[in-house]
Order: sequence, then structure tokens, then C-alpha cells
Amino acid sequence: MISFRSPFTHQMGWGRTNCSLGISLDNFEELPGVTQEVLSRGAIPSGRFRSYGDSALNSGGVNINSNKFKKIDIQTDKGIAICGSGVTIGELEFAAHLHGFLPAVVPGTGYVTLGGAFASDIHGKSQQSKGNFSDHVTQITLIDSHGIAHEYTSDSAEFKATAGGMGLTGFISELHILLEAVEIPVIYQKEIRVKSLKEMLSSLVKVENEFPFTVAWIDLSGKYHGRGVVTAGRYASKDEVRKKYNLDYRFQKHDKPITIPFLGRVNVMKKFMIRVFNSLWYHKPVKCGLISFRKFMHPLDSISNWNLLYGKSGFIQYQFVIPSLESDFLEEVLLILREFEISSAVTVLKKFGRGGSGYLSFPIPGWTLAMDFPAGTKNLSKAIEILDRKLIANGGRVYLTKDSLLNIDAMKNMYNELEEWKQMKRKMDPACFWQSDQSRRLELC
Ligand SMILES: Cc1cc2nc3c(=O)[nH]c(=O)nc-3n(C[C@H](O)[C@H](O)[C@H](O)COP(=O)(O)OP(=O)(O)OC[C@H]3O[C@@H](n4cnc5c(N)ncnc54)[C@H](O)[C@@H]3O)c2cc1C
Repeated sequence: MISFRSPFTHQMGWGRTNCSLGISLDNFEELPGVTQEVLSRGAIPSGRFRSYGDSALNSGGVNINSNKFKKIDIQTDKGIAICGSGVTIGELEFAAHLHGFLPAVVPGTGYVTLGGAFASDIHGKSQQSKGNFSDHVTQITLIDSHGIAHEYTSDSAEFKATAGGMGLTGFISELHILLEAVEIPVIYQKEIRVKSLKEMLSSLVKVENEFPFTVAWIDLSGKYHGRGVVTAGRYASKDEVRKKYNLDYRFQKHDKPITIPFLGRVNVMKKFMIRVFNSLWYHKPVKCGLISFRKFMHPLDSISNWNLLYGKSGFIQYQFVIPSLESDFLEEVLLILREFEISSAVTVLKKFGRGGSGYLSFPIPGWTLAMDFPAGTKNLSKAIEILDRKLIANGGRVYLTKDSLLNIDAMKNMYNELEEWKQMKRKMDPACFWQSDQSRRLELC
């Protein structure tokens, strides 16, 4: 029997609303074997596909994955990690903690590669105190469309175009990352239940002097008044941990996440279930005390396939930032969701302290809100259209690594350094080899 194996493979964004069929490569040496027809669609670098939409997808073209770039060299004297772009945040955390260090900026999951973290210029619970991921990177090595490696330091325009540049300036192969010295990878966590949005905002502002890590979760089960839980954290000292556990705390090399079987066919996140889940979460006892660094930073990593809870159609994460510390805009957003009867399964609010260094970095000082909507929710596209318009009018923007719906005009109006970025794109990639489904949708190439 003749077996035929197609060279094309399926790739999906984390939200499972976008999928592509393309050629997947692990290194540049395989590029000459790709047909001209496929190469005419260019290539996009990819990591672990934790971006929600189509930024790591390249339908009909090539996808170059970083999973072979696994070097980790911790230089304890300089407090620096020199790493391959395919190393995940979780792997770096493990390697660094053995030497008394941790990365200063980590996202909500440890399954993100360092290349992906830089290309999206990610932020974490420490954004208001420590800025973005790229603020802690001193140098990158970027491979261009001819396979030539270039080193760029943080003061160069190429670095600024690549931080948050969604893989469209080249393939990051290596990064120099500044680490922070940490006594023990344990966090002292404080949770505060709040009854309204105003109370939530003032509570977030109040705790940030004492706690470098802050985040809030909003309950959308009831009247959409913004009640929820504020979570704040700071590193615990060795003494605090010893007093409690009478031993030294250690990371597990491999946390074993649970995989829920038979998920993916049915959408468990129906409106009723979302309300029940939100209400239970709001009423659960608030905790104050010690928690492992990983559990605090990556709470969802204990279930490997939670994105399948939304069934075949997947879900959309809509994350925006608004440059104001007043509550009016956020109240208006909640009102729009209530009017359209739209529920978000998980709604997360954070304060951003400073802007990103990249031309297309997402953060600007203000509030950022992330919401998870089951795809196909009635009136969702209408509501998002209204939100996009209001965001533009108020100087806000949508996060590109979560996006799958923005249009060209909205993008132009949201990212005010887009022209500077485009100039660098033309300089660094004149033939527009680096392209993705997202870049074609937003005319970024
Ligand atoms: C559960 C969960 C929680 C999250 N929490 C946060 C959070 O707290 N804060 C936050 O900011 N983000 C968060 N994210 C988003 C995530 O951090 C980003 O989408 C990140 O870019 C994903 O990394 P990845 O390795 O999976 O890259 P991919 O999803 O594979 O790619 C993302 C982008 O990076 C580019 N890219 C990847 N590798 C390279 C490379 N080697 N060279 C050049 N470009 C490259 C791709 O072209 C693409 O544009 C979260 C995502 C999930 C699923």
C-alpha cells in the first residue's frame, strides 16, 4: 500500500478560532527544499502557539519553529541568562532558581517560549513595578530571511522593532535576559474580596506600594458592577518559609499538569455555566499566606488542555488597555456587555505602570482588561466593534498577541508608532519574507 504523507501540517492559535495549513520547519537548512509556490507566502517564526489568534499562523506558507533552540547558560556573576529562543519561561524559571535567580517578568503561563515572549513583548503581574519582558533583555540575535544572524542591543531601532513586532522582523534565535536575585521561589499572597469596580481599582492602587505583583479578577455572574477579588503578592523570605514548613522549598523539575479527557467536542462554557463558575469563584474563601511562585504566576498551568472547555468553536480573548486611571471607561465596558447579555468566563484586570519600549509594544500606563468569550456568542462581534471604536476615541488599544478580529483602520488608530515600525520593517525585511495570517489581515507586510 502506498502511503502519502502531506508536507502540510495544521497549526492553531490557543483560542482555537484560527487554524492554518502550512509547512512546518525546525530549522533554516530545510528552507531550500520548500517549493517556490509555498515560499511566495513567506515564513513566520513560532514558539508554543500560546498566542490566541493568528499571529503565529501562516496559511499556505512556512512556519519556522524554535523548539530546537534550547541553550540555557546562567551567568551568576552578571545575573544574566543567555538562552535559545525555544526555551520556555517555565524552563528558564527552573534553571534560574537553582542559582538563586528568577526572571523579572513572567506571563500567566510557563508554556511560552522566550522568542514568543519577546516578539509579543509580554507583561506579567509585575508590569506596574517592573515593566515588560523586553525591558529585561539586553541583546537579541535575529536571523534574517537569508539565514544571516545579526546581534542587536536594546538601544537599537532593530531591537525596538522586534520587541512586540510579532515575528515580522526575523527569527529570534538567542536572547540575553537580566534576572533578579530571589531568596526563595515562594510568594506571600494576599487576596481581598471587593464589592464594586471602584473599590477594586482603589484596592489595586493601594496594595501596589507593598506588593510588586498585583492582578484582579472580575465576577461577571451578577449585575456587572465589577465585584471580584484582588490578588497581591511579594516574594517571601527564607525565614518566613522555614517557619511555616520547617524546610527549604524546592521547585519540581516537571510539574505534571492534568489533562481532562474527552474535552473539545462540547462547549462546557455555556452562559449558565459561566455564571455558576463566576459566582462560585467570587464566594470562595479568600486566602492570605504562602504559595509557590509557579502556582501564583501560572495558575492555569495545572490543567494542560483547559482551552478545550470551549468546545469545537473555541473562544476569543479580547484584551485592551485604556490610558486612564478613572473607572468611567471600564464601567461603560461592563454596561455594554450587560446590555448585549455577553458573559466572559474569565475577566482579568491589571494596572499598567509604564509603556513598552517596542514600537508595537502593547502596554501604555492605565488599566488593561482581558475577557474570554466563547466564539459564536450572540452579539459578540457587534459589541467588539463598539468597544474598538470607543477604545480608539479614548486612546486605547487591543493586544496583538490575543487578537484575531482587528481591521487595518483600527490598528492604525490604536498603535501610534506604527509608521516608525513599518519603516524598520521595510529596512529589515524589504522582500517581506516574514509574514503571517495576522500581518496580511492588518497589512503589516
Ligand atoms: C494561559 C495563557 C496565559 C497568558 N498570559 C499572558 C500574560 O500574562 N501576559 C502576556 O503578555 N501574555 C500572556 N499570554 C500570551 C502569550 O504570552 C503570548 O502569546 C506569547 O507570545 C506566546 O508565546 P509562544 O512561544 O507560544 O509563541 P507563539 O504563540 O508561537 O507566537 C506568538 C508570536 O511570537 C512570534 N514568535 C514566536 N517565536 C519567535 C521567534 N523565535 N522569533 C521571532 N518571533 C517569534 C510569532 O511569530 C508570533 O507572532 C498568555 C497566553 C496563555 C495561553
